[in-house]
Amino acid sequence: MSHVLAAVAWPYANGPRHIGHVSGFGVPADVFSRYMRMAGHDVLMVSGTDEHGTPIQVQADSEGLTPRELADRYNRVIVEDLHGLGLSYDLFTRTTTGNHYQVVQDLFEGLYRNGYIIAKTTLGAISPSTGRTLPDRYIEGTCPICGYGSARGDQCDNCGNQLDPEQLINPKSRINGETPEFVETEHFFLDLPAVADALAAWLDTREGWRPNVLRFSRNLLDDLHPRAITRDLEWGVPIPLDGWRDRSDKRIYVWFDAVIGYLSASIEWARRTGDPSAWKKWWSADGEGKDAAAYYFMGKDNIVFHSVIWPAILLGYSGQGSRGGSPGDLGALNLPTEVVSSEFLTMEGRKFSSSRQVVIYVRDFLERYDADALRYFIAVAGPESQDTDFTWAEFLRRNNDELVAGWGNLVNRSISMAAKNFGAIPPAVDLTEADEALLAVARVGFGTVGGLIEKHKQKQAIGEAMRVVAEANKYLSDQAPWKLKDEADKPRMGTILHVALQVVSDANTLLTPFLPHSAQKVHELLGGTGTHAPMPAIEEVSDLDGGPAYPVLTGDYTVGARWESTPIEAGRALAAPKPVFRKLDPSIVDEELARLA
Ligand SMILES: [Zn+2]
Repeated sequence: MSHVLAAVAWPYANGPRHIGHVSGFGVPADVFSRYMRMAGHDVLMVSGTDEHGTPIQVQADSEGLTPRELADRYNRVIVEDLHGLGLSYDLFTRTTTGNHYQVVQDLFEGLYRNGYIIAKTTLGAISPSTGRTLPDRYIEGTCPICGYGSARGDQCDNCGNQLDPEQLINPKSRINGETPEFVETEHFFLDLPAVADALAAWLDTREGWRPNVLRFSRNLLDDLHPRAITRDLEWGVPIPLDGWRDRSDKRIYVWFDAVIGYLSASIEWARRTGDPSAWKKWWSADGEGKDAAAYYFMGKDNIVFHSVIWPAILLGYSGQGSRGGSPGDLGALNLPTEVVSSEFLTMEGRKFSSSRQVVIYVRDFLERYDADALRYFIAVAGPESQDTDFTWAEFLRRNNDELVAGWGNLVNRSISMAAKNFGAIPPAVDLTEADEALLAVARVGFGTVGGLIEKHKQKQAIGEAMRVVAEANKYLSDQAPWKLKDEADKPRMGTILHVALQVVSDANTLLTPFLPHSAQKVHELLGGTGTHAPMPAIEEVSDLDGGPAYPVLTGDYTVGARWESTPIEAGRALAAPKPVFRKLDPSIVDEELARLA
């Protein structure tokens, strides 16, 4: 058994999440974590809502709320959505906790002491009417390179070049249209060039990463600059240095605090278990966590933060860059073992866009369809290694032809036939070659499917699990137990059904990481009791450091099925099953398309 950290990207709390978000990292991270736990590893799966930064401040202003009130609203919505999908977080928290503030400030101080945070004077844009800083992305103007009229202060979407806001021709605030003023302001920068060599040496030791992620990360090292980690903003974590701590107009930049969330959430989890140092088993690089593995799950637009910037923070904090230094108060910390990035999901051929209503929110989806129907689609047809289009027609086909007609049908017909003819799981006698062959296909599946999930090839993994299902359906058709009606044939009929039910049980275990809700149902239909697939729960907790209460997702995942074939017991009572999956009416396609603008 080893310690495995599953670090899942933090959703931004400025609105509800759509299915593109959860298909990129939430569901794949849960499949991985569930499998690793079933295989006997000690998994810690953490994340939370990312709640600082200008977009939340701007949106709160426009709704007449405080940023905290806006974040409270969407933190709860997101917690409920992830709960509905059955994502097995040990802790899904948020970045506005006292614990998070402390950990962020501790990392800032450690980096500063070691010399990896430097102060610089820069030009900042402010709004003349409010005196407030205008973040780069809220400034619009003409691109100085291609002449595109709607370039943003951080980049031009037409020519793709990175920009600084003062380069824009005729810059305007996107908030109120006024012309920003540029003033000198002091900020702190993470000195990325000072850890470039350490980063390169570390990247050279990485194995098994998706090649595009590794190539992209190595290329970034050729052109590293110090990166601002503070902003002129009131909403965020205060800067923990004398002369700065009490200033209300300067805050740590949202991206710097958000990546530290993986660590602060692990520490919060440990504090809540009553063993405040338990997090070290996953994090401590020179102590009890030195053999731990850390897997980070995110969309491809976030690779840089996980493969370069977060490792740079960890290296500098641990005193491992060109300026040397010694580890901060938390000790030397583990770098990512693997950065698992997904591609993008599009929607009926278009990019998801909340403003243009090209969107399906998780909540709306779960009101009309089952969580496992979406989890199945994401696993078999999600954006694992290339951009992928979600269409309602394909969702319908996958659900009806594969989930219902394949897996659901196997469960239903084998259990119904056994219940009707025996009322219980019949015994197996005199296994034939065909019986043995099918049982072997299922047994081999544990190695194949598990190995693929470990390599983050979930699409192939569920394909192998569904191949076991297809083989079992073919076996039933070939053996045709329904024809063995004579009393003399009954032992053979029982044997066939016993074999089929054993393979249903095995296939159910293989599918459990992907389809945990239905796996629990199938377990019960087979006469099983207790928890087969543990589920997360929403708990209202108080802030450990005195702040307001908030909801978290957590759970006990030490219970449930192991990653192995469990022999079914002959004689266990069976009842006629209820269908596990819902067949969808083809009319849903037109209904859903009509909902899109
Ligand atoms: Zn341009």
